This record gives sequence, C-alpha cells and structure tokens, in this order.
Amino acid sequence: MSKVLVIGAGGVSSVCVHKMAMNPGIFSDIHLASRTVSKCEAIAESVKSRTGVEISTYAIDAEDVPALTALIKATGAGLVVNLALPYQDLTIMDACLAAGANYMDTANYEPKDVARFEYHWQWAYQDRFKAAGLMALLGSGFDPGVTSVFAMWLKKHKLRTIRQLDILDCNGGDHGQAFATNFNPEINIREVTAPARHWEKGAFVETPAMAHKVQFDFEGVGPKNMYMMYHEELESLAKFIPELERARFWMTFGDAYITHLNVLQAVGMTRIDPVMYEGREIIPLQFLKAVLPEPSTLGATTKGKTNIGDIATGEALDGSGEKTFYIRNICDHEACYEETGNQAVSYTTGVPAMIGAAMMLTGAWKGANGEGGVFNIEQLDPDPFMAMLNTQGLPWTVEELAGPVAF
Ligand code: NDP
Repeated sequence: MSKVLVIGAGGVSSVCVHKMAMNPGIFSDIHLASRTVSKCEAIAESVKSRTGVEISTYAIDAEDVPALTALIKATGAGLVVNLALPYQDLTIMDACLAAGANYMDTANYEPKDVARFEYHWQWAYQDRFKAAGLMALLGSGFDPGVTSVFAMWLKKHKLRTIRQLDILDCNGGDHGQAFATNFNPEINIREVTAPARHWEKGAFVETPAMAHKVQFDFEGVGPKNMYMMYHEELESLAKFIPELERARFWMTFGDAYITHLNVLQAVGMTRIDPVMYEGREIIPLQFLKAVLPEPSTLGATTKGKTNIGDIATGEALDGSGEKTFYIRNICDHEACYEETGNQAVSYTTGVPAMIGAAMMLTGAWKGANGEGGVFNIEQLDPDPFMAMLNTQGLPWTVEELAGPVAF
C-alpha cells in the first residue's frame, strides 16, 4: 500500500489527484486535505466520476503543526505532497519530520511579508531529514520542476557542459477575462512585480521588473512578447550546474495583462504590507486576490496552448564542439480541461507533481545511497521522470538549433 496525503485543493492539486487516481498501481490510497474541506470534496467527486476511485478528504490548517502531524499519522501516509501555498512549506516539513513522512512540493518557501523566493530556508532542513532517514523533494512542478529536469536530461544525453541556459515559459491561452491569473493570483503577482534577476558569471544580476522584452515565435502559439524575470529554479540550477555562465528565465505576457498590472501597481493594489481600512488591517494584494477570478474557474473558457522549455548551449557530449538544443512541451488548454476539469497551467504543474510523487513512492528516486535528506529535482536521475512525462500527458521534443540564442 502506498498511502499519500495531498495538501491544498486548488487547480494544481485537482490535476495531481486526478492523475494519481488514474495510476492506481502506484497510488493505492489517496488522502486529500485543505483549509476548505468543500473544495476537497468537489475534487473527490470529480475523481470518483472520472475514474471510479474513492479518495478521503479532511479539513486542515497546514500552519498548525500539531494538527497536521496528527492527520499524517492518522492517515498513515508515507508521503505528503504539498500543493498548498509556498507560505506553508516549512510547517508541512516540520509536521513530516514529527510524523515520520517523506515530503514533496512544487514551489519554494516564501515569507508572507516579503516576496523572496529562496531555497535556504528549506535547505536548512537537510540534516534533520537525513538524520530521520526521510526524503524531501523540492520543486516538482513545471517551472520549477520539468524545466530543471529538461536541463539535466540535456546534460546527461547531449551536452557535457551547459554554458548558457534560457527557460522560455509561454502561455498562449485566452480565458476571455479582462484580467485574471492562471495560478494563485497572490503568488503570481508577487512573482511578476519582483525585480528581475538572472545568473551571469557567478552572480545574480538584478534589473527592474519587466524591463527586458523579447519577441519569440513559439511553436503552436505564434509570436509573443516574453519578459525576463526571476524564477526560483535559477538558484538551484546555478548551484547544480556550476559551469553555467548565464541562466535566464522568460515568461510571456499579453499587453492587456501588463497594462492592468501597471495600473494595479500604481494605485497600490499589489502592496503586501498591511494598510488600515475601516478600522482593520488589510493586505491590498490579498484583497485583490479575493475579487479576481479563482484560477480553477478559468478552465472551462480557456483556449489555446502553453509551450514551455529550455534552450541550452554548451559543449557536445560527443566532442563535436559547441551545440544548442531546444527541449520543450506543448500543452493544449482544452484537452487538459477535458481530461481533468482544469486548464493547462494547473495541468502542467499537477502532472509533474504526480510524477515526482511516483518517483518517490516507487523508489525510482532515492537520496544518494538510499539516504534521506532534502533534494532539489536537479540532483536526481532525469530519465525515469522524462519517460513518465511522455506517458502521462506532457510529451516533450528536443531539436538542435543552428546556434545560441540571438537575444
Ligand atoms: P490555489 O490558490 O488554487 O490553491 C491553493 C490551495 O491551498 C487552496 O485550496 C487553499 O485553500 C490551500 N491553502 C492555503 N493555505 C492553506 C493552509 N494554511 N492550510 C491548508 N490549505 C491551505 O493555488 P494553485 O493550485 O494554483 O497552486 C498551488 C501551488 O502550486 C502553489 O504553491 C503555487 O505556487 C504552486 N505552483 C507551482 C508551479 C510550478 O510550475 N512549479 C506553477 C503553478 C503553481 P483555500 O482554497 O481554502 O484557500
């Protein structure tokens, strides 16, 4: 029996739990807990009607470590898959240690009061997980997640070294709303309004948010403007691919999204410090989240494709000089909705979350010598993960380009 407890009941969780239920040979007993139990029940109902699999649901505040520890023990879960918000990463890791369960997530810890995406808080758990013989897998979504596995696959099969890496994240989907975000709006807006940072010659270089724009023609989508921004996998990629001279992350945004965001920022609606409103403190960005559409409701109307991948340049493994490869997945919003009831941004995160969990439960991924510890996805063998991407709905292609990127 492989018992798994999933925490959080948003779009990513919904996809992950559906895909777990579609792989009963790996996930034989699925438990789902979140702050709002009715959201867990709605996912359970959809899973039951689509797959016939029953899952158990619970209400939990994942910031309450004793309550979460008791829930992990009561379910008997050997693995906790954290698909709540980055704010809960550390309390869920604490509860896993207390209950003796392995841990996995898709986004690194972030304090509520400052938008800082850094791994050091979670890396600090290394000794405790190792001493307990437990494994924590960090960043098993698409980005972070698949984009790092893509880089490590290229490094294993095509390139001896990676000199330059560009991660290109394009969402060509249209949801028909004037302004909405495709995953948690608070996390999304904190991410895109933070200054851009990229890795260059051994250090991070900071530039103003959304200052670097490049047009790129994405297969399956067409030409789109993409903007350089900071993304958390740049930190772990720079650590685990030490020869990297330059690593950058790019994301596409439409002009209407940028215009709305500029206005919201100019009027103070994206602030994350408390302001007084009618005698009580509110956080403007949290209020904004409350009035924006829930990402999980966008699935029914979203049309178009995502195209996310890596362009890497380095010395070829076969000694034939410098080569450039482009490795990517293209995913269709409507097909994702048909299969799981969720759009492609949730799908491209929830499927790799399921695959990361499968890697841990089947023992395909263990720490060095089977020891416990805290691992970024770059530290593990890309091959079994890449094979499952192909069979679980996120097929990928790799092509050689004529030379390094010109931008
Ligand atoms: P949602 O906001 O849709 O869902 C988050 C869920 O977590 C909600 O059900 C929420 O409950 C629950 N939650 C929040 N706080 C708590 C708490 N204290 N205790 C228990 N449950 C809680 O987010 P998404 O599904 O879009 O994203 C989920 C995660 O995936 C996020 O961490 C996000 O950063 C990450 N992500 C990663 C990506 C990647 O490629 N690596 C891409 C996209 C997302 P309630 O509904 O009651 O508020």
